[in-house]
Amino acid sequence: MPMIIRTAAALLAAAASLGLAAPASAQGDDLRTAIAADMPRLMELYRDLHANPELSFEEVETARKLATRMRALGFEVTEGVGKTGVVAVLRNGDGPTVMVRADMDGLPVVEQTGLPYASTRTATPASGVTTGVMHACGHDTHMTAWIATAEQLVRRREAWRGTLVMIGQPAEEIGLGAKAMIDDGLYARFPKPDYVLAFHDAAQFAAGTIGYSPGWALANVDSVDIKLRGVGGHGAYPHTTRDPIVLGSAIVMRLQTLVSREANPAEPAVVTVGSFHAGAKHNIISDEARLQLTVRSYSDQSRQMLLDGIRRIARGEAIAAGIPDDRMPEVSVEDPYTPATFNDEALTRRVMAGLTPRFGAERVRQVPAVMGGEDFSQFRRMAGEGEVEALIFWVGGVPAEQMARAERGEIQLPSLHSPYWAPEADKVIATAAEALTAATMDLMPAR
Ligand SMILES: [Zn+2]
Ligand SMILES: [Zn+2]
Repeated sequence: MPMIIRTAAALLAAAASLGLAAPASAQGDDLRTAIAADMPRLMELYRDLHANPELSFEEVETARKLATRMRALGFEVTEGVGKTGVVAVLRNGDGPTVMVRADMDGLPVVEQTGLPYASTRTATPASGVTTGVMHACGHDTHMTAWIATAEQLVRRREAWRGTLVMIGQPAEEIGLGAKAMIDDGLYARFPKPDYVLAFHDAAQFAAGTIGYSPGWALANVDSVDIKLRGVGGHGAYPHTTRDPIVLGSAIVMRLQTLVSREANPAEPAVVTVGSFHAGAKHNIISDEARLQLTVRSYSDQSRQMLLDGIRRIARGEAIAAGIPDDRMPEVSVEDPYTPATFNDEALTRRVMAGLTPRFGAERVRQVPAVMGGEDFSQFRRMAGEGEVEALIFWVGGVPAEQMARAERGEIQLPSLHSPYWAPEADKVIATAAEALTAATMDLMPAR
């Protein structure tokens, strides 16, 4: 039975229930309506991507799905850029070059959402342990919104001028895909962008809201391994040994002073020891211990301070523990690391000045930076200082009813990477596609 809407208030309420209550665009275009009309087809694509996730650098079927659609839209498409990356170019007259990025990889997580289109896929990553695979970071919403953005920009090509570069990036989750694409000639074989745009779904914001952080947005991510060597022996004769567990414990405690005593309190930093392995038996003092750390920062200087401090503390504590000179700790920092993500402030202000009247101020908000990492940073950093301006923003995915329950303290919201993360995908996709399309057109006006 059709819904009969009798009053303006009921009309607004109905629109609100569909997530369409925000004011229409200041330009009076029909972008929102056009995307809403496409949603059933877009959701089919989303459910297919969600049910068939692939791990980092294994996004073969996923890349093919994206490439096929982009070819059908008239883009020049190149596959296999940076192993499994996709580059799609549309030249549309003289003007700036804008690159829009979606990341493609899923995670080694066994999905627990109970959704009818939940992933049942498995894979065997490099660790050799077979695992479930899930789009637990929401990269499936990114890809679907990316396709929707391409469709809208093709349909509206009279209204913008310039070169559009759309990329499907592999291996964001291991922090290597963006670099792999650039190393494989992203900026040499294809038009180099003036601007790079992307979004990430957010597990802490209401579905359909937009969050942005001008300046630093996401952190430097370093993985550090510390190998400690002691002198092993019998647990009942500690005086004949140098115990690496006691040494490791002292190092773990001393590391806490890096953030509390050495970092500038105005500059956020994190040093977390996520793994501490040593020993095999009650009565044996091990001759080795291993620590694994994640280290987070924003500026190059604070990153260097933390890494130097970790080396100094490991060595200093080893000397204090009487470890022989030839058994000093080995500290290794994983290379490459994920650099911090910086949103160019002028670009961020410009894009948000366009999106705020479009969505309404209650849906577009400045939010604090986070200590998570994103290799989106590489598109700006590896281009050379000031060459490419970049912006990544958040699109909230938490259903309104869950948000309300969380605010009342009744439930704890799942985070990204949780096996329970189930964003309200249609709102994420519709909002992100509208935002990316509008922002791209704003950056490439038809003269
Ligand atoms: Zn992730
Ligand atoms: Zn992600």
